[in-house]
Amino acid sequence: MTVCLLTGGCGYIGSHCYVALKSAGYDPVILDNLSNSDPDVVRRLQLITGSPVTFYEGDVADQPLVASIIARHGVQAVVHFAALKSVGDSVVDPLTYYSSNVGGVTALLGAMQSAGCRNLIYSSSAAVYGMPERMPITEQASCVPQSPYGHTKLIGEQIIRSLVAAPDQASGHVGGWRAGVLRYFNPAGAHSSGLLGEAPLGVPSNLVPYVSQVAAGLRPYVRIFGNDYETPDGTGVRDYIHVMDLADGHVAALSRLLQSPEQAMVLTLNLGTGTGYSVRDVIN
Ligand code: NAD
Repeated sequence: MTVCLLTGGCGYIGSHCYVALKSAGYDPVILDNLSNSDPDVVRRLQLITGSPVTFYEGDVADQPLVASIIARHGVQAVVHFAALKSVGDSVVDPLTYYSSNVGGVTALLGAMQSAGCRNLIYSSSAAVYGMPERMPITEQASCVPQSPYGHTKLIGEQIIRSLVAAPDQASGHVGGWRAGVLRYFNPAGAHSSGLLGEAPLGVPSNLVPYVSQVAAGLRPYVRIFGNDYETPDGTGVRDYIHVMDLADGHVAALSRLLQSPEQAMVLTLNLGTGTGYSVRDVIN
């Protein structure tokens, strides 16, 4: 059974991917510092999958810890979700975002290198595109991020591409590393059990959990930022993808990487639906 390490596996996307990977026959192990998730997710994953969950509480920047988990479990691939993800917070506190998101990638890759694991799936974001000239956005569109968060995700991609292209220090040949760079659009929804979902600590920075909390009476109203965009109802339009479809995208990308163990590659893929919904659509 292929063992994969999910950094940030207790978070929204990571926990749903855990379920999808487990049902596809993988053996996932979780590392999470619980900075934006609830430890009860581990119990819920056990309930859903009917088997024990291997969970480590710790930080992805802790290289000795990450290398030891890879060695102990024979980890063959890492799916790297662990990051800070609020565009607004990244504008207010860019240093924390660069340090956590970019520092997290370099630390993780170093730990993987030292432990001999060279297959990576990386959580990138449609935020790397910034304000695209054409819709729908393809992977060939220019990357001009508009926020520190988007820059951290693009720098992470660039670090991964450099590593995949680098000659192996022992053999001098390019090779060894394979990466899937997955640019998510807006994940929404939850696992059908109702046991998982998007439950951020603090004020949600994404629209769907915010609207859900208002619908549940936990917050008084939704503030709409801007009603004069060039969209049918004037409010911002985004591409929302169901989180379990997103999770299936990870399973497919990982299986593609593992099919060609000798070939260096970077698969760069958008994960969205190609259809947009406005803020008013979502509220309605
Ligand atoms: P999330 O906050 O729910 O999950 C991230 C998890 O990582 C949390 O459980 C958190 O505790 C953990 N974590 C954060 N920093 C860590 C660290 N240094 N060490 C160990 N664990 C750490 O976020 P999410 O929505 O599941 O997003 C997962 C990934 O997908 C992130 O990289 C994010 O940038 C990316 N992404 C998310 C969206 C979105 O709208 N949700 C869109 C595009 C990309």
